[in-house]
Amino acid sequence: MDIPFKQPITSLNRVGQTLSRRLKKINLETTLDLIYYFPFRYEDFSKITKIADLQPDQQTTVKGKIELLNSRRSFRRRMMITEAVIADESESVKIVWFNQPYIAKILQSGDEIFVSGKVSSDTLGVCFKNPVYEKVKTETAHTARIVPIYPLTEGITQKQIRFLISQIAHQTSKLHDWLPEEIIKKYKLLPLNISLKQIHFPDNFIKLNEARRRLSFDEIFTLQLFNLKNKKDAEQNKAFPVPFFQDPIKNLVANLPFSLTSGQKKCAWRIIRDIEKQKPMNRLLEGDVGSGKTVIAAMAMYNAALSGYQSALMAPTEILAKQHYDTLEKILGKDTVSLITRTTKKTSKDQKIFVGTHALIQKKIKFKKLALVVIDEQHRFGVAQRQALQEKSEDERIPHLLSLTATPIPRTLALTIYGDLDLSILSELPKGRKKIITKIVSEEKRQKAYEFIKNKIKNGDQAFVVCPLILESDKLGVKSVEQEYKKLKEEVFPDLRIAMLHGKSKDKEKENIMRDFKNKKYDLLVATAVVEVGVDVPNATIMIIEGADRFGLSQLHQFRGRVGRSSKQSYCLLFTESKSEKTLQRLEALTKSQDGFKLAEYDLKMRGPGAIFSAQQSGFISAFKIADLTDHILIAEAKEAAENMIDQMEKYPLVVLKMQKFKNIIHLE
Ligand code: ADP
Ligand code: MG
Repeated sequence: MDIPFKQPITSLNRVGQTLSRRLKKINLETTLDLIYYFPFRYEDFSKITKIADLQPDQQTTVKGKIELLNSRRSFRRRMMITEAVIADESESVKIVWFNQPYIAKILQSGDEIFVSGKVSSDTLGVCFKNPVYEKVKTETAHTARIVPIYPLTEGITQKQIRFLISQIAHQTSKLHDWLPEEIIKKYKLLPLNISLKQIHFPDNFIKLNEARRRLSFDEIFTLQLFNLKNKKDAEQNKAFPVPFFQDPIKNLVANLPFSLTSGQKKCAWRIIRDIEKQKPMNRLLEGDVGSGKTVIAAMAMYNAALSGYQSALMAPTEILAKQHYDTLEKILGKDTVSLITRTTKKTSKDQKIFVGTHALIQKKIKFKKLALVVIDEQHRFGVAQRQALQEKSEDERIPHLLSLTATPIPRTLALTIYGDLDLSILSELPKGRKKIITKIVSEEKRQKAYEFIKNKIKNGDQAFVVCPLILESDKLGVKSVEQEYKKLKEEVFPDLRIAMLHGKSKDKEKENIMRDFKNKKYDLLVATAVVEVGVDVPNATIMIIEGADRFGLSQLHQFRGRVGRSSKQSYCLLFTESKSEKTLQRLEALTKSQDGFKLAEYDLKMRGPGAIFSAQQSGFISAFKIADLTDHILIAEAKEAAENMIDQMEKYPLVVLKMQKFKNIIHLE
């Protein structure tokens, strides 16, 4: 298929070491990566305006001959100014470029060029300031057409990316289409090679939409097929049927310090009924932070233990594992639970119920009659790790699987993405939870907010500060956190004890800092969104979010869930410099609602699925570069196509190959 097309990116013109290093930062290493690096928007410069008709503020293109061109240094500011006058048959117009002296070397008087950009006006009439330009050739990449705009990183320009892609876009005819003819015909899809050319350099918006539809179909179809295949494979397996011990379970529930919500009862019931069967359960339990998922898992594990089966709960961090261990011992009784982490190994008397971290999947840990596996915060684990735990059992049977997640993904979206799983949703929180007071803080009110925080902390409270990523290249948030930390430490709160966490912090270091924070050795913890602080720190009552406008509501809601865990009143302060009506309105939704699912629906409508997932899940979501995961019509079509394909996939080697690649992406997630 696309293999012959795949060449190292350095095989292209004008890609030296520096540029290839920069491209690597945005995961562009081969020509294939590049052709699948889609624009995130387009500018329509396809209409050429006569110079005489130019209007101030108009975005457009003109075509003309250079009559004058020179570069000079400005007096007052030490800046290079390149000026040109170009003329068409109607009129001439001035063009000014700042600090681009090389332009005077590339262009010459007499050259015919396109100039695209926004028309400015000064005392002498209209002109272009810093427009894009291109010599007139048969095929243009930057001007006089619908121009692609790519996401960039430091040190790479739109022009460079376009130049690179234009080198390969005309070779797309070499690409084989991996979709069978029948599917292309039945769903009226544009061929792959045409789509890939059009997505970068569309002839017009109709073609662009067709290209987009085809490439979206590819992504959704692949996902649907992948899910169907997993489901089919899973059905070949057998699990231990776990009988329902009604009386002891009722007893357990009666002895809880609270009564279960009706949602908890329903979920627990479904799970207990599921694991009675020989068919392995594969269920995702979604419930907002604090909705009480742990007790549901405890009931199922206890039920398994009653018939002599083992079960294991895996959590993403050592602190969380210990937290669960304590909770389960409280619910199920002393010495009923074993704890296995890197540093601890406590074994209980009867060794039926295990709690731990990744340490559970080490080679030397062995299970017998493992009937149930629970994965907490499932998005924190890769598929491979989840499977590794499932495959731990020494028996022929595989364990039932229960995944827990606090990301409120709307049902329809969840069904598309996790089509191979059954879904349970806990949509209500236990009664009596205090609302977290949520406020939007503008720049003008920043100082006042700092005073408020200082006072709270003086009274013994603690606070989180979450920072957004400032630069695309700062994926781990090192820079943003360090900057914020420095500012708070040196200028704002010199008297407070402040700690920081970012994506580069070592696991061990993270755990130590979280533990120290929990033990009140710090007043304030600065972290990036990349670091999920999924730990219970009841004494933390203030969540401060910098650049709140840069996050999706779901993510903001998740951050907010880190506070409000004690009887004290908690606060969430959303700092933003944005003055945009739309942005403020969006944030406003957060101040009014504490319902994660409602906020997620809102996100989905306003910003698409990407906004819902936390940083850890973005790997998975990055498999969807173009598909709109809310496009129900296309999803239905792709699903139908996948259902028709699933039993005869082997007949289509290119499809099989594509599935393998997709699996690799998902496994790297
Ligand atoms: P999460 O779904 O975020 O994992 P947990 O299972 O940790 O939530 O539960 C959060 C807290 O709520 C725990 O302290 C738990 O004991 C408590 N809890 C769970 N269910 C209920 C309920 N029905 N009523 C009151 N409190 C509950
Ligand atoms: Mg939990």
